[in-house]
Amino acid sequence: MNISTQAAQIGLDWDTRTGAVTVPIYQTATFRHHGLGQSTGYDYSRSGNPTRQALEEGIARLDGGARGFAFASGMAAIANLLLLFKRGDHLIVTEDLYGGTYRLFEKIFSQYDLSFTYVDTSDLEAVRNAIRPETRALFVESLTNPLLKVADIASLSALCRERRIHCIVDNTFLTPYLLRPFDLGADITVYSASKYLSGHNDTVAGLAVVKDPILAETVYFNQNSVGAVLGPQDSWLTIRGMKTLAIRLDRQQKNARRIAEWLHSHARVHKVFYPGLPEHPGHELLKKQARGFGAMIAFEVDDHSLVERLLMRTKVISFAESLGGVESLITFPEGQTHADIEPEIRARLGINNVLLRLSVGIEDSDDLIADLAQAFE
Ligand SMILES: *Cc1c(COP(=O)(O)O)cnc(C)c1O
Repeated sequence: MNISTQAAQIGLDWDTRTGAVTVPIYQTATFRHHGLGQSTGYDYSRSGNPTRQALEEGIARLDGGARGFAFASGMAAIANLLLLFKRGDHLIVTEDLYGGTYRLFEKIFSQYDLSFTYVDTSDLEAVRNAIRPETRALFVESLTNPLLKVADIASLSALCRERRIHCIVDNTFLTPYLLRPFDLGADITVYSASKYLSGHNDTVAGLAVVKDPILAETVYFNQNSVGAVLGPQDSWLTIRGMKTLAIRLDRQQKNARRIAEWLHSHARVHKVFYPGLPEHPGHELLKKQARGFGAMIAFEVDDHSLVERLLMRTKVISFAESLGGVESLITFPEGQTHADIEPEIRARLGINNVLLRLSVGIEDSDDLIADLAQAFE
């Protein structure tokens, strides 16, 4: 069945007693037992809650994995996956990484003797050369933030399989609608569902899916032990958002393509990073492995003074962090999302003081372009 159909029907038929078309919000902490040693399958909501379970089964189906897990945020999902590793283990990580992930790895997990090497994961040889005897995983963003580099998930997964290390894909920017990492050989996917999956800038949530049922048992043990689970209300909101994932992304991508072309031809725009443009280095690869190019655009203006002007003067597009929702947002990565990354690393990656990032929403593209045009003037 197509992903758009599967997504629209998450939670349908959950409640056979009433026939409710959407999964009810089971706002309960605990569940009554019918007898000693008997359980309805639910005992306590940290261990399992029907609304959360509908979401977890939904994302597992979209990705084609054994089991899905819902967490209180994308960071909680990533932190939980790192609990699969032990002191001394080493991970290879995408270098132009989401800033919060970098902070989690370097400021917290490095204290527990995990070590991380940051490489350009769009360069297969760089990844191969970074593998050490103690390397246990590759953590890769399928489309990177903010510079939208494209990783070759199929080749990276093959390399991981050969070297017996886990391939973990942060697929937040593409979602299973555009790219299915398991079809390309990956082992684990992780999402900030706060972004495209929930899609309405109304909830913070994280999801992970594990392909192998045995590894999934360990992730479940860790999820239940740590307890950073998503509550029933937010699980419901995430399901509700995911139902329209396909049509939102279709529209967002269409808008993004038009805006990227418009920016590309603007006299005061230096560079446009959008994989949908044929000159983008990842264009052909993404065309091969994904259904689309997403709706994130980064661009450099010709002078730093334009940064504040654009952030302050756009009216339809809001100056706010986050991405993936129906409302278009603009941010300044150097000062916001990537502020925790060391300045030398930022400079090497190209996250500079003229770079802006645009998350294109579902508004009319004429209105979005007119908004940018007036802000430039
Ligand atoms: C936002 C984001 C995260 C973190 O997710 P939260 O839901 O904000 O905790 C992780 N990875 C990527 C690529 C993101 O964009």
